[in-house]
Amino acid sequence: MPAPEQRRIIFQHIDEPGYTNDIDCYIRNGGYEVLKKAVTRKPEEIIEEVKKSGLRGRGGAGFPCGVKWGLVDRKSGKPIYLIVNADESEPGTFKDRYIMHQDPHQLIEGTMISCFANNVKQAYIYIRGEMPHGARILEKAIAEARAKNFVGPNILGTGYSCEIFVHRGAGAYICGEETGLIESLEGKRANPRIKPPYFPAVLGLYQCPTIVNNVETLCHVKFIAEHGGAEYAKIGTPGNTGTRIFCVSGHVQRPGYYEFPAGTITMGQLLNDVCGGPLPGRNFKAVIPGGSSAKVLRFGERYKGKRKVGADMVDYDWGVEDVPMDFDSLAMIGSMGGSGGVIVMDDTVNMVEALANINAFYSHESCGQCTPCREGSLWMKKITTRMVHGDARPQDGALLKSVADQIPGRTICAFGEACSWPTQSFYLKFKDEFDGYAATKKQPKPDNALELV
Ligand code: NAD
Ligand code: SF4
Repeated sequence: MPAPEQRRIIFQHIDEPGYTNDIDCYIRNGGYEVLKKAVTRKPEEIIEEVKKSGLRGRGGAGFPCGVKWGLVDRKSGKPIYLIVNADESEPGTFKDRYIMHQDPHQLIEGTMISCFANNVKQAYIYIRGEMPHGARILEKAIAEARAKNFVGPNILGTGYSCEIFVHRGAGAYICGEETGLIESLEGKRANPRIKPPYFPAVLGLYQCPTIVNNVETLCHVKFIAEHGGAEYAKIGTPGNTGTRIFCVSGHVQRPGYYEFPAGTITMGQLLNDVCGGPLPGRNFKAVIPGGSSAKVLRFGERYKGKRKVGADMVDYDWGVEDVPMDFDSLAMIGSMGGSGGVIVMDDTVNMVEALANINAFYSHESCGQCTPCREGSLWMKKITTRMVHGDARPQDGALLKSVADQIPGRTICAFGEACSWPTQSFYLKFKDEFDGYAATKKQPKPDNALELV
């Protein structure tokens, strides 16, 4: 079956010739009309629409946005904060940066609607430290919106006031973990906090109820406020509503950003029909479907089980190409949709080298609070590095697996899972390559081996 048509909600205007990131262009294209209507409504109505929409967070975890808003402690008497998580750092993920660069007012409008719905008077956009250009664009856009009274005191004469501040991140992956981010925003080292029992919805920034939403998620809220939750829920598939943006990178002919109704496109359609298939003369070998933390999938493998279709349970027997690109289907085959970063590897890729690269990243980015994560990520890096450099020991494959298996579920934050899943899945699916390295003490270093620290 050919791939479905792209449905562009978030990227509706982004690539149009002449579309710029200034407020006049945004307003010419209907910008801020939704906010104007939203601030005349009852805030609870907007929350209800978001609940009805089934919108799931686009940062990676896919937690329902309406449920998150519903969990906010509104009786504490403390201010409620909203934080836009713009610390996009997941390797393979680059959609939020594109939105902020090309269409910052869409984010500001979605943020203001969300603030109004949740009675937030102060919002922060926490942008990744390595995105200074994006930070400047956002600062300019907020100033433009303030000048037109879409942000600031007494918005559009309604008596509702709300400020947005841009806060530049501290240049670490862990600053994107929501509680690490909150610590960093409070001026401290970005050490994640233990959750549960207290999620930011109850005790977040300055120990006040706080909503943390991803950039793309807040842009979807704008669409929902305009068209209603029921209309939004008609897009995509039950449980995976709205559109999904994929950032495809690696060994395909046309890497890039693509937006489709959620759950309507399979991996094969995305990689072959949309992205033009493998490079000439090559074959797909593996794909990581949801940012580097997701488990790798091997082409040629079959995934079997039972899944719910309507009221029935039906058998599925999928190759990687057949898997629908939605949160639930990817979870069913043991990986995840995550942040939508699809990393494609063809048969030129040495999987030991690829994993060594990923492990170097995670080992560098661990905040170091938990022993299994701090020591485990370091050991996974050491083992894969010595494999690449030809110094592997016969037991290294088994040792690598054993280290990876002892991290998940034993750490403060999800980084523990994120750093171990690549090793677990690479080793499981490409055991032959890893054991080959471990069995040959002095395997020559591949010509294109990375210089690993
Ligand atoms: P999580 O499942 O712990 O939480 C998801 C969200 O739901 C959080 O905002 C959390 O506060 C909220 N939540 C969950 N249960 C709740 C409850 N009972 N009460 C109130 N709120 C509740 O996941 P996480 O650790 O926030 O995120 C992990 C994901 O982040 C991974 O799947 C990964 O894909 C993704 N990630 C993305 C990037 C990126 O650059 N976009 C970077 C790193 C990781
Ligand atoms: Fe830090 Fe890793 Fe523990 Fe998360 S799991 S708190 S990154 S040491």
